Amino acid sequence: MSETRKPRPSGDGDLIARVRAAARQEQFLEVVSAEEARARFERHLDLRPLPAETVTLADARDRVLARDVIAAVDAPPFDRSNVDGFAVRAADTVGATDGNPKVLTLNVEVIACGHMPAATVTAGTCTAIATGGVIPRGADAVVMIEQTELIEEGMPRVELHRAALPGQFVSYAGSDIARGETLLRRGTRVSAREIGMLAACGLDRIEVVRRPRVAVLSTGDELVEPGKPLRPAGVYDSNGAIITAAVAEAGGEALMCGAYPDDATALEKAVREALAASDMVVLSGGTSKGAGDLSHRVVSRLGKPGILVHGVALKPGKPLCLGVIGDKPIVVLPGFPTSAIFTFHAFVAPVIRARAGLLPEADKKVTARVPVRVVSELGRKEFMLVSLIEGEEATFAFPTGKGSGAVTSFSQADGFVEIDALSATLDAGSEVHVTLLGGATHALDLVIMGSHDIALDVVVGELADRGFAARTLAVGSLGGVAAISRGECDVAPVHLIDPATGQYNKHLVEPGLSLIPGWRRMQGIVFRPGDKRFEGRSAQEALKIVLSDASALMVNRNSGAGTRVLMDRLLDGTRPAGYANQPKSHNAVAAAIAQGRADWGLAIEPVARLYGLGFLPVSPEHYDFLIIENRRERPALQAFLTSLREEHVRARIRAIGMEPSD
Ligand code: AMP
Ligand code: MG
Repeated sequence: MSETRKPRPSGDGDLIARVRAAARQEQFLEVVSAEEARARFERHLDLRPLPAETVTLADARDRVLARDVIAAVDAPPFDRSNVDGFAVRAADTVGATDGNPKVLTLNVEVIACGHMPAATVTAGTCTAIATGGVIPRGADAVVMIEQTELIEEGMPRVELHRAALPGQFVSYAGSDIARGETLLRRGTRVSAREIGMLAACGLDRIEVVRRPRVAVLSTGDELVEPGKPLRPAGVYDSNGAIITAAVAEAGGEALMCGAYPDDATALEKAVREALAASDMVVLSGGTSKGAGDLSHRVVSRLGKPGILVHGVALKPGKPLCLGVIGDKPIVVLPGFPTSAIFTFHAFVAPVIRARAGLLPEADKKVTARVPVRVVSELGRKEFMLVSLIEGEEATFAFPTGKGSGAVTSFSQADGFVEIDALSATLDAGSEVHVTLLGGATHALDLVIMGSHDIALDVVVGELADRGFAARTLAVGSLGGVAAISRGECDVAPVHLIDPATGQYNKHLVEPGLSLIPGWRRMQGIVFRPGDKRFEGRSAQEALKIVLSDASALMVNRNSGAGTRVLMDRLLDGTRPAGYANQPKSHNAVAAAIAQGRADWGLAIEPVARLYGLGFLPVSPEHYDFLIIENRRERPALQAFLTSLREEHVRARIRAIGMEPSD
């Protein structure tokens, strides 16, 4: 260049300086691994749920429960008729047919909904009952009005044309929701279903976690608000909208602050205001090391501890910047939409979820094959977004990559494959583990079928805290044995005594199954306090008295229940009044006794306590778990087994009144 050339006008000088700055390749000072980045960030964060606030059911939808909700009542609250008809003793109906009807005398009472029955159904009688009516003392079944004929002359009587089995058309107390049961778990997001359950238990307000407020700002001279015309060289601000929605999905309350041009002064003012008004700030764009990339410079001026990470060995997402000002996280996501949303899900969403009280999401992985050869960059962990296609013999993972600038890569992906920083290629046909993206599946991690127990809620709660979703279906011990032998569940809680040896559960183990010790629960005779036939006596004494007292009405259990086996052993062949009344749970037995529809039965001690009933111990019952041996290594089953050994879990089981087994 000529030395004699005249100095340029100052406007040009500015431009030259900017050209120089743009051409200068500024380097990230320190690029750290994803694990290191997360560790540095979390060291400065409070990840506990925000304080609780009380909301009415009307405002509860989509909020996160701050505490477990324990059902304080049974639903239904009493044994209830499912049809219009007559409450009967099933034994009186045996053999009834069209040709040989049985005749029962009608008690002088009609049981309408909302009214307690007064008369006892004694042998040879029945009481008219409406759908939803309370089953009267003495009755154990209902016959439909359609299967009867009223005898008009004389005393009111009805002819029955069908025999009824005990329990026919009866919904037992607590069969829907059992008092003392953990109805909903802390960390659950409330939907219409949960609201229905809360209302059925009589709750009109609940405690939820305050939502973290997250301010969302976009940066870039090129950005145009959606809805406005696109000017030349303009780009619609899609990050602002995606991130705002993703904040809400993660349980936060987004404050959408809009898009700001690349002007340090204006941006700093906006970010300071956003920090003051929120619990957390998320910016996107302006985080590379080029000219005009101001976001990280602005963040570095806001206060301590300031920027913790700028540059992560990730593809996409290298320019990610993580900081904390005071106790508030501030994050600058890369501007490219795929990079922005990917890093948001990896680094920001877990923080919002934790503050919002949601439980961590355990990674859900599936195995698939990549149908094409994939070339990766050495030295950076690469996340390849894939879409899953079910093939004839295998599931295939197709890369959806259109580059990190694409908006659609993320939304069309089912998951991602991590490619190690040290591997350069994946050959076509390689087997890979695909981590499914949140919301892509709601698959259950563990299915538990068998006998239900309130201490099981403690173990399931521990699993939920570790991010595993378990579903418990109460089908009784025998139902659980049948389900697990067909492979329909992973765990079957059982408590069945072997009549031959007197031992619990060991006889249920088949090839391929293992028995895992659970806990012991004391079973005993349950009665209303003050009943002289029981109060202050031993179980054996009380049993002798009630078996020779015709007015004493028992309540039994369903066949298949371990407690039923014990009852049959105690009764030794006798069939006292009420034997045919066979509800399916400890709660229903306790409810029937508490409400005077029966006088005694067998149940476990914690349930007797819950209903304020007296308890005479009979014998401890072993509640153990059958598991499918070749599923033992599955993460959720592993977590279940380790939970059983955890001291804090065992302490809570003890507090409920069970003794954990070794
Ligand atoms: P930057 O990180 O600011 O260098 O931006 C990198 C790329 O992402 C550029 O192509 C930007 O136009 C684009 N970008 C930045 N912010 C947004 C946004 N809010 N919405 C859509 N694209 C964006
Ligand atoms: Mg920019």
